[in-house]
Amino acid sequence: MGPTLQALRELQQLELQVIDVQQQIGRRERAVEAQKRKLDELGRVIESVRHRLHDLQRDADSHDLDLKTRTANMGKLREALNSVKTNKEYAAVLAQLNTEKADVGRLENSVMEKLVAVDQGKADLAAQQQIEINEIARREDLQQQLEKTRASFNDRLTRLVAQRDAAAARIDAKSRGLFERMSERYGGEAMARIVRTHPRRDEFVCEGCNMSINAQRYNAVVTRDEVQQCSNCGRILYVDSDR
Ligand SMILES: [Zn+2]
Repeated sequence: MGPTLQALRELQQLELQVIDVQQQIGRRERAVEAQKRKLDELGRVIESVRHRLHDLQRDADSHDLDLKTRTANMGKLREALNSVKTNKEYAAVLAQLNTEKADVGRLENSVMEKLVAVDQGKADLAAQQQIEINEIARREDLQQQLEKTRASFNDRLTRLVAQRDAAAARIDAKSRGLFERMSERYGGEAMARIVRTHPRRDEFVCEGCNMSINAQRYNAVVTRDEVQQCSNCGRILYVDSDR
């Protein structure tokens, strides 16, 4: 394999290293973003739990106020019972008092239920807030990891990009353009090795897609340093230089 294909191979190796570093940074960036979205969603859940608790509390308060009013009313009716003059009045007030007593009994149960619901609402809120504290800690941890990765890879990435660009500059514009298109298509794997599939026969396949490569193409790569593409996948073909 001649200098053109060697230069492309070098470009390929640097390209893959650049992509690897970018992916490691990208993975951590996405993890931080995903955690932020999770926290936003949790914030909305907490807001709705808080809202529901507020409603429950207001409901309980209003029933409690009602209960106090009705209880006070019962007191007044009891007093009235002592001051009525006739049996008819007595019976009428007693009937009111009994109705009121039944209502107060129902209200007491209702207030109890509402207070239980309020307590449950408070517990729900506290649980969600605890989750939020943990998730915030996780976001900070992920953010730190991202910054650490950026700091440790920054120099390396700058160096690799410079090396890659220098390697690319040694290649003619047409081949470079082809390399870039294939790199784009195959996530940096712009080149594919030609593999001999039979020890004694001239049978070859492209390692990128496993489709066969004819002997002329193989020879063009090996003996003439030509930039040849796999006719199936389009990758730029090379052979191991020690063969
Ligand atoms: Zn192929």
